[in-house]
Amino acid sequence: MNARTPDQEYLKSLTVLYVEDEEDAREQFTLFLRRIVGMLIVARDGAEGLEAYRTHHPHIIITDIQMPNMDGLTMAGEIRHSDRNVQILLLTAFEDVDYLKRSINIGVDKYVTKPVNGFQLHETLLECAHSLLAEEALQCAARTDHLTGIANRWEFINRFNTEKGRAERHGTPLSIIIADIDHFKSVNDTFGHNAGDRVLRSVANAISSSIRVEDACGRWGGEEFMLLLPDTNLDAAARVAEKLRQAVSELSIPWEGESIAVTLSMGVGQFRPGMTLDECIQPVDHALYRAKTGGRNRVELAAP
Ligand SMILES: [Mg+2]
Repeated sequence: MNARTPDQEYLKSLTVLYVEDEEDAREQFTLFLRRIVGMLIVARDGAEGLEAYRTHHPHIIITDIQMPNMDGLTMAGEIRHSDRNVQILLLTAFEDVDYLKRSINIGVDKYVTKPVNGFQLHETLLECAHSLLAEEALQCAARTDHLTGIANRWEFINRFNTEKGRAERHGTPLSIIIADIDHFKSVNDTFGHNAGDRVLRSVANAISSSIRVEDACGRWGGEEFMLLLPDTNLDAAARVAEKLRQAVSELSIPWEGESIAVTLSMGVGQFRPGMTLDECIQPVDHALYRAKTGGRNRVELAAP
């Protein structure tokens, strides 16, 4: 059995909408497509295709041009209007300059000429999958702190706004932890900046592996991390912080034959409805400051 390439693997996870009015072609390629894509939706004309698009939000659309009720280009134009990301693959029966012009204006991604050759269709679908995969990687990179692999500040702010909305709508608690690595400067001074980077990665990894999937953890800047805990009140958040403090204090980070130990100081606070992120952070920052001045390697709570 041949191993699948990443693009083939990815295509196998995608939803594809296939719109074709000719019954023979439709039946033939429905069977073919079912084997190579994740989920296949089939429609018989543009109007049906548009409806199917709205229900299933496919990643890729394969469409014929000339069809009753609504032609393929009109359907594609409607869809492209609201969806920049969907890949549109046009099946063209003949080289018609007007169709080509319209399709370029609409933003059709790929073309396959009719009569459709299965091999060529498969290759073109793999190109669509590749584009989608590259776009996903790009979006992921824009949300990620490249050093530690956790969320960056921008993504953390997005998560805060999402969770703030949810907490306000449902009246559920939401807590924040700010964690700062103690004496991080002396790690850099003693072992060098590469060691400092290793410490940041190890601490980020320790934090992200000890929280729940619904929690968010981001690098706020420098040696400071921010955590967001939905459905968690101040007391429960304090227990999470204590667990993290302990986990990080037990890390022994190997570096050039030696091992580096670090600790965290943390401030913990609970969000109140109506607060902005800054208003939420300020008392937690003060609590962090008390943890620092109180001897470090400790957790302090913001006044409720
Ligand atoms: Mg047709």
